[in-house]
Parts: sequence; C-alpha cells; structure tokens
Amino acid sequence: MPDFTYQGLASRVVFGRGTISALKREVEALGCRRVLVVSTSQQTADADRVKARLGDLHAATFSGAAMHTPTDVTARVLELVQEQAIDGVVAIGGGSSIGLSKAIALHTDLPQLVVPTTYAGSEMTPILGQTENGVKTTQRTLRVLPETVVYDVELTLTLPPLMSVASGLNALAHAAEALYAQDCNPIVSLMASEGITALYDSLPRIKSDPADLDARASALYGSWLCGICLASTSMGLHHKLCHTLGGTLNLPHAETHAVVLPHALAYNTPAVTDALKIMERALGGGDVPAKLYDMTKSSGATVALKDLGMAESDIPVVVQAVMSKPYANPVPLSAGAIEKLLRNAWGGVRPDQSNSPHA
Ligand code: NAD
Repeated sequence: MPDFTYQGLASRVVFGRGTISALKREVEALGCRRVLVVSTSQQTADADRVKARLGDLHAATFSGAAMHTPTDVTARVLELVQEQAIDGVVAIGGGSSIGLSKAIALHTDLPQLVVPTTYAGSEMTPILGQTENGVKTTQRTLRVLPETVVYDVELTLTLPPLMSVASGLNALAHAAEALYAQDCNPIVSLMASEGITALYDSLPRIKSDPADLDARASALYGSWLCGICLASTSMGLHHKLCHTLGGTLNLPHAETHAVVLPHALAYNTPAVTDALKIMERALGGGDVPAKLYDMTKSSGATVALKDLGMAESDIPVVVQAVMSKPYANPVPLSAGAIEKLLRNAWGGVRPDQSNSPHA
C-alpha cells in the first residue's frame, strides 16, 4: 500500500427515519436563536415543516433558492439576514438550497444545519459553485462546509422516481471519479466502493417502488459517502464536462450527470484498470460503462443529451470550452475523442468497443 494523507472533514451527521424531530435540539446545540430557513420555491411545504419544528427559534424563511446559486439571489437573502439579525441557517432541499446556505455562510460565517432531500451530496463538501452573469465559478473553502447534516429518509420519499435515479447517478459519479483521482487514497476508495454498491442496488428499487423506505435509506446513505468522495478528491473529465454542459447550455444538473457518466468512464477506461475493478465488484461484475447505461435506461431515465435540450450544433462549442481549460484526467484530453464522447452521449448510444471515443 502506498503512503497517503487523508483529511477528515468535521461535520456532525444525524441519519435515519423521522430524524427531523431532532432539528430543534441540533440547532440549539449550534447555539442559534434566530434561524433563517432556506428552500426552493418548489419546497415551501418542507420549509413550513422545518419552521414548525423550530418553533420560537424560527426568525424568517427564504424560499427563493435556485440552481447554480445565482449571486443576485444571495445578495437578496443577505439583506434579510441582516434585517432579521439571523444567527444560523437551516437549509432543506437539494444542492440548490444547500448552495444558497453555503453562500450565506461564505459571507457571514453563520453556522449551517442542512437537511438534504436529494442525493447530490453537496452537504458533505466544502465546495460552492456560484453563477454571476451566466458564468459559473467554483471554489473550495471550509467556511462553507455545513456544521450539521440531518438526513431524514422520509423526506426523500417525495423525490420523483426519475429524479431520484438521476440524482443517485450524480452521486455515483462522485465516487467513480474519486476512484481514479490522483489524490485518491484507501479510505476514500472504501467509501466510494460502499457508496456505489448502495446506489446501484437501491436506485432500480426506488424506480419500481418510490415508497420503499429501505431502498431510500440505502440511496441516501450511498449519497452521503459519495459526497465525501467529491469533497476529498479532485474530479476529472466527467465533472468538468457536466460543469461545462450545465454552465454553457443550462442543462439540468442531475440528468446531465446521469447521461454523461457511462461515456466519461468509457473515455477513461484505457487508463483506470484498478478503479474499474473496484466498480465492477460494486456492480456485481460486467462491463462498467455498459452496465451503468443499462441501469439508467431500464430505470426510465434519459440516456441522451438531445433529450435534455442540447442541439447537435452545440457539440463543437462544448468541445472547445472543455479543451480551453486543461486539467488532470487519467486519459489526456483530445478534441477528437471528446467530440466522439459527446456525439455518443448526445445520441444516447450504449457505450461499447465499436463506438469507443478512442476507436
Ligand atoms: P435541486 O436542489 O435543484 O433540486 C431539484 C428540484 O427538486 C428542486 O425544484 C427541488 O426543490 C426539488 N426537490 C428536491 N428534493 C425534493 C424532494 N425530496 N421532493 C420533491 N422535490 C424535491 O437539485 P440537485 O441536483 O440536488 O442540486 C443541483 C445543484 O447543486 C446544482 O446547482 C449543482 O451545481 C449543485 N451541487 C453542488 C455540489 C457541491 O458540492 N457544491 C454537489 C452537488 C450538486
């Protein structure tokens, strides 16, 4: 085994069913007395449930969180934070609500308690992506890492099945890329393997029965582990491609990850033998990119970027954007191979030897 360094990230995690009942106690433990609740406009009912749990600790609610954390939304909520003398934030929702909470913490250092309701994994990372004038930038700083995470499996029951599959594949992608990251280590590998196993097993079960609490628990547990993988390593081609597709073409976050993952893995296959062995074990054997593609398709989630609103003429634009910012990836980036990858992902073809980006 090689020498390695593992940096643990300090957050308190409460995991289970009905754990939202611990919310007030957990907020009090953070020393907060005037709490701001944040959510998206689609989750005002969840925000109201949090408000009811907080009782007299609730000071205000802001339900305007949006995908990719627009800075003008953050500016509005910061005014509210000041007006209401807020001393802590509770975010309920997916990466959009948690992103807004992190942006508030970046500006104010207020403590955060987050209640994730998707599998995106943002709650576990010191990463914040923000959008200003259509340009998304990402930073890593411990200032944005939430102090407490309350995972309540019951709150994920309302996440629609197709969104659940896409969101779970977004999480799985964090673990897949961590396994071949230059800064991976045996501890992260353990979490990646366990996270992939949990998600690959549970997502088809959620698709067939969205009310299956055991499957929901397994997916949420897997997404927690995969979030730590994202937090602990540097991501490669898959995440950069999705970042570019989301930032440039405004494609939906989780669904884009779900479509691109098998193709990004096919691109990196020639250089990631050890990572693929771990993934193969987690998936119960077989060709990893093809198996992930098959699971996505049989779950009813989309497998083609064209179905997410991308035009074929966008392919060269994305290739150019990806090639303009070099970064580490197991297989060096080549414009021709990236274009083939994107054509496969755009058309929704099943990855195999005959359509390899390197063929
Ligand atoms: P999201 O938070 O935008 O949620 C998608 C939609 O589903 C929203 O309308 C939301 O209100 C709704 N929703 C969420 N949970 C629900 C539930 N249980 N029931 C019903 N509806 C529910 O989507 P996401 O994929 O979780 O997050 C995407 C955002 O998070 C992007 O901006 C992405 O860049 C960011 N992200 C950041 C990190 C990080 O580490 N910084 C990691 C992953 C994602």
